[in-house]
Amino acid sequence: MGRNPTKTQKKAAFDAWGGTCQHCHLPVKRGDEVYHHIRRRISGQHEPANLLLYHTSCHDQHHGVRRSLSAGTNRADT
Ligand SMILES: [Zn+2]
Ligand SMILES: [Zn+2]
Repeated sequence: MGRNPTKTQKKAAFDAWGGTCQHCHLPVKRGDEVYHHIRRRISGQHEPANLLLYHTSCHDQHHGVRRSLSAGTNRADT
């Protein structure tokens, strides 16, 4: 089981949330999406139900940070 979701798993999550950000409930453009794991180290951690869809900026707000977490890094905590 991989640590990060595959393209297929990301697409499944995108479709499962209707392409809508789970923070602001506005549509997310492809390329501006971040997948947030509710829980880590569980089986099915890359299932859509555990993989919330956020805008990049909303995901940062969700984590309570001002600068982007994802820019230039490939953190596991997304
Ligand atoms: Zn949003
Ligand atoms: Zn996150």
